[in-house]
Amino acid sequence: MQLTVLIKSTEPNLTPPKKTPRYLIRFSVRRIQINKTMAESVELPSRLAILPFRNKVLLPGAIIRIRCTSPTSVKLVEQELWQREDKGLIGILPVRDAAETEVKPVGPTISQDGDTLDQSSKVHGASSDSHKLDAKAQNDVVHWHNRGVAARALHLSRGVEKPSGRVTYIVVLEGLCRFSVQELSTRGTYHTARISSLEMNKTEMEQVEHDPDFIMLSRQFKATAMELISVLEQKQKTGGRTKVLLETVPVHKLADIFVASFEISFEEQLSMLDSVDAKLRLSKATELVDRHLQSIRVAEKITQKVEGQLSKSQKEFLLRQQMRAIKEELGDNDDDEDDLAALERKMQSAGMPQSIWKHAHRELRRLKKMQPQQPGYSSSRAYLDLLADLPWQKASEEHEMDLKSAQERLDSDHYGLAKVKQRIIEYLAVRKLKPDARGPVLCFVGPPGVGKTSLASSIAAALDRKFVRISLGGVKDEADIRGHRRTYIGSMPGRLIDGLKRVAVCNPVMLLDEIDKTGSDVRGDPASALLEVLDPEQNKTFNDHYLNDLSKVIFVATANRAQQIPPPLLDRMEVIELPGYTPEEKLKIAMKHLIPRVLDQHGLSSEYLQIPEGMVQLVIQRYTREAGVRNLERNLASLARAAAVRVAEQEQVVPLNKEVQGLTTPLLENRLTDGAEVEMEVIPMDVNSRDISNTFRITSPLVVNEAILEKVLGPPKFDGREAAERVAAPGICVGLVWTTFGGEVQFVEATEMVGKGDLHLTGQLGDVIKESAQIALTWVRARAADLRLASAEGINLLEGRDIHIHFPAGAIPKDGPSAGVTLVTALVSLFSKKRVRSDTAMTGEMTLRGLVLPVGGIKDKILAAHRCGIKRVIIPERNLKDLVEVPSSVLVNLEILLAKRMEDVLEQALEGGCPWRHQSKL
Ligand code: ADP
Repeated sequence: MQLTVLIKSTEPNLTPPKKTPRYLIRFSVRRIQINKTMAESVELPSRLAILPFRNKVLLPGAIIRIRCTSPTSVKLVEQELWQREDKGLIGILPVRDAAETEVKPVGPTISQDGDTLDQSSKVHGASSDSHKLDAKAQNDVVHWHNRGVAARALHLSRGVEKPSGRVTYIVVLEGLCRFSVQELSTRGTYHTARISSLEMNKTEMEQVEHDPDFIMLSRQFKATAMELISVLEQKQKTGGRTKVLLETVPVHKLADIFVASFEISFEEQLSMLDSVDAKLRLSKATELVDRHLQSIRVAEKITQKVEGQLSKSQKEFLLRQQMRAIKEELGDNDDDEDDLAALERKMQSAGMPQSIWKHAHRELRRLKKMQPQQPGYSSSRAYLDLLADLPWQKASEEHEMDLKSAQERLDSDHYGLAKVKQRIIEYLAVRKLKPDARGPVLCFVGPPGVGKTSLASSIAAALDRKFVRISLGGVKDEADIRGHRRTYIGSMPGRLIDGLKRVAVCNPVMLLDEIDKTGSDVRGDPASALLEVLDPEQNKTFNDHYLNDLSKVIFVATANRAQQIPPPLLDRMEVIELPGYTPEEKLKIAMKHLIPRVLDQHGLSSEYLQIPEGMVQLVIQRYTREAGVRNLERNLASLARAAAVRVAEQEQVVPLNKEVQGLTTPLLENRLTDGAEVEMEVIPMDVNSRDISNTFRITSPLVVNEAILEKVLGPPKFDGREAAERVAAPGICVGLVWTTFGGEVQFVEATEMVGKGDLHLTGQLGDVIKESAQIALTWVRARAADLRLASAEGINLLEGRDIHIHFPAGAIPKDGPSAGVTLVTALVSLFSKKRVRSDTAMTGEMTLRGLVLPVGGIKDKILAAHRCGIKRVIIPERNLKDLVEVPSSVLVNLEILLAKRMEDVLEQALEGGCPWRHQSKL
């Protein structure tokens, strides 16, 4: 029975073809035949004819094919193999060249007069090679190894060369077992040797097989061999035939078979041959098999990588070629070269300062060396584009500033705001006298819609400079100000530099909008970057990761609340407050500024739309409740849109015939005077003649009245009765709070129910306001007897009941201490069943002892109360000084009540005063 095993080439990718060994079997496909004898021991004669193997080793289990051409080897084959009936045995003995022995001598050295045989692959070549080798070998000193392998001829073929008549043999030999040379002698032309077998006999074999070390080693070897086989089979997709080998052949023989199939050095082959001890052989073989396995894996990895890269770059190449062809077809073949040349030209004409130019030029040189598909190419390109686009030298021309015309400009754009305008004129005057003056940055602080942005843009207009607005609301990342580091893919310049690029001049007025809304987190602190921007000493070299120099920019900032601006930033700014407008001011602003602007924006004039003052007042009272005028402007715009639709509808309809000429709209007149043919337009079936004639009545302006107001703006959103309606029951009262939208009216509702004395709070309240509620309840309970809420001292006010306090507009988060007095008032009203006056609003913090402490934002709060139709406002006594800021037109309409202690508040707030105190006005 014969078992045929195919083992594929071991290192197909790593080994270049010319390195294929001359003697060993070619590694592309290697065939190892194992016959029955492989598994059995072989009886060796005491003498064997010796065929020398130059610098190669035949290991047991290996099969080779050799071609014998030299007279010595031909003689040997003829006598020992060819002329024998049975298949004869010969010994294969490695010999080492003299040159090699200098390094490492092995075995006896005798003068060689025969030939050495080379491996089959060599023999496949021209026979002359073999002769050369023979000639070279002659008289060479060669070193015989003292161990060899007995081999059996599996196949013999004889040939006669023509025309020389020289006989040659091709022999297929199978290595069988190791022997050691006792004595080497010459028989006629070839060598023979007295030998002794090195194979283990049966008992030795059994002994070894029970050795635990051997068992361990053979397990290890088999596992590694199995792994190798799996890898090879995977590559070849062959069946599992090789695995059978592992089961059938004794493991110490397997070691030889596996090693024989690898390409290893002569030294390693010799050392394998010398490994007579089975354990030693196994451990050596395991090491070699493992090394081989690893090298296959590495080779595989490299192949995969190379293949991947190749196919990717090939694909890109193909696509690029296609793109080029398409561009050529389109006559659009400006390639990257031209592109970069254009970029360079643009950079040259950008007028960069020397230092930046040097840096940019270095970057350009780098870019030129890069492939467009290389990572970093596009970001580098975008960077240079930006540098070329930035306004290095381009500046708005600065004219001699005329303060009078600046004042006129401010007056024409804005109503009122005398103090603010005055401060702006002062600022401009300083700039006029000393253009590079490093005064503080102006910062307009106030609720939305009070004209902060438009004032800044008026400053730009007065200075004849371009205006750019940078929104800082919600900026948490320092990179938004400073730009990303250029090492990031997709890095971008900061907002400031981006703004400069947009405005295309280096000296604009730059508005840093909502500077109080920047926050800081892990991504850095934008405020510190802004500090650098606003500091005149530093902004010359402001280090955006892209570039520097903001020294020619005039900065103006806006904020809703000054308190929320980081203190170091605030320190560099001059805060100008815009508190919000009274209804009278709003009316004036609407009549003088907003209505003309809105009409203009909608392509209308007073011929089409008229909004009487009374109606504007109604819009202010019923449809807006804000500190600024933004919603007012929005509502006016809604009215303008309605009028625009009306006008446009009239203009669109075209008459059916020329008889209606006299009744036309301006559009139609133009058409007719042009002498063009009158166009036909289909009039819908359901439009009757009356409608048509109505349409052509000469347009009268749309005069807004209350009905139109309701039709366009919907039912009124606010009316003066809100407070009165809501404060209808005990336990409810009106507070005044401060938000980013300015002052606001805040209702507080308290109610009681059966319970265990708990306090429930709702309306998205912050910690401070929750604590205020606790303080309020504690104070009321402590003073229950004094306030006549309980019949006697020591009675628990909360006995058997829970209290619930709610702040309506539950979706809006609320916090702050200024609701203290409002909370107490609501609770006292609840317990005493006395209503709070609906025309009275209050603000103030309260201590546990009942003292009323001052609070912030008084001016805004009083304005808010006024807007809501409140008639009386209770404020802490210590806030008296803040009243100077409140416009007198508001103060005359309000009764301001000052409170020092909580009792003062209750006295004024509760209907009918406080019965337990002698009624007196504060
Ligand atoms: P802010 O920046 O404070 O939020 P804006 O500057 O955007 O407000 O103002 C909103 C609108 O109100 C703008 O159209 C502005 O012209 C107008 N406006 C605000 N105050 C006045 C004023 N005093 N006179 C004329 N128009 C004003």
